[in-house]
Amino acid sequence: MVLLGSTGSIGVNSLKVAKRFGIDVEVLVAGRNIKILNEQILEHSPKVVVVADTQDIPKVNHPCVYAGEEAILQVIEDSQSDLVVNALVGFLGLRPTLKALSCGKQIALANKESLVAAGSFIDMSKIQPIDSEHFGLWYLLQDRPVKKMIITASGGAFRDWDIKKLQNATLADTQKHPNWSMGQKITIDSATMVNKMFELLEARWLFGEGKYDAIIETKSLIHALIDFKDGINYCTFCKCKYAAPYSFCSK
Ligand code: NDP
Repeated sequence: MVLLGSTGSIGVNSLKVAKRFGIDVEVLVAGRNIKILNEQILEHSPKVVVVADTQDIPKVNHPCVYAGEEAILQVIEDSQSDLVVNALVGFLGLRPTLKALSCGKQIALANKESLVAAGSFIDMSKIQPIDSEHFGLWYLLQDRPVKKMIITASGGAFRDWDIKKLQNATLADTQKHPNWSMGQKITIDSATMVNKMFELLEARWLFGEGKYDAIIETKSLIHALIDFKDGINYCTFCKCKYAAPYSFCSK
């Protein structure tokens, strides 16, 4: 596979999955964390590596290293892999998503900004969502008419804060997520709840027009629920059937 954003929270975990399932890593793309990148090169022996800045190239222990956004697009085009995992953060992820699609690759998409910014230009048949809420919806969806799709939110770092205190919040405060360890940007977006708005947009592009909602589930045990028109709901946790809307599985 081609892994974009290998040194980030999703990237590091993607490599654990690759190792577990024996998936070859053809390309690693990282930003500025050269120390972790060098460790990844030793362990996964990619053919090509890309970093953010040209001045970092000599620090990378690999004979074939490029730098910059255009290089990311070029290595996608030149790669033999069918799968591109896009775990870049922010708007930077959009062009690589479009490039991978134009090259006929399958995309495992974590970079939600691709869909938020340009969902209407993206062919969803080639996209496998990694974002847990959308993976949950995808997993639950069957060939049955849907009344409503629901994703959950932990509520982020400020969930239990007094609203008057918020104006004094610092960057460090935004990073104290109650449940997860993730990259800096998504952790800020979780604290402000903007992340959930992004995810509702993501869901709309992935699964089409329909009714979507988000609810707070503080333990983050449930990531997605579907309210089917026939009244039978499935729990993401174990796929057991529940008739009452919004019921979580007791297991
Ligand atoms: P991180 O900030 O942890 O990782 C971002 C990755 O992008 C790093 O490898 C970083 O490299 C790389 N990067 C940044 N700038 C550049 C650049 N100019 N050129 C090349 N690479 C660059 O983010 P996350 O892993 O948390 O999130 C990635 C995406 O997945 C985001 O869109 C996020 O919203 C989404 N997502 C994340 C989840 C999570 O649990 N973390 C859950 C669901 C979705 P470096 O660190 O070396 O600078």
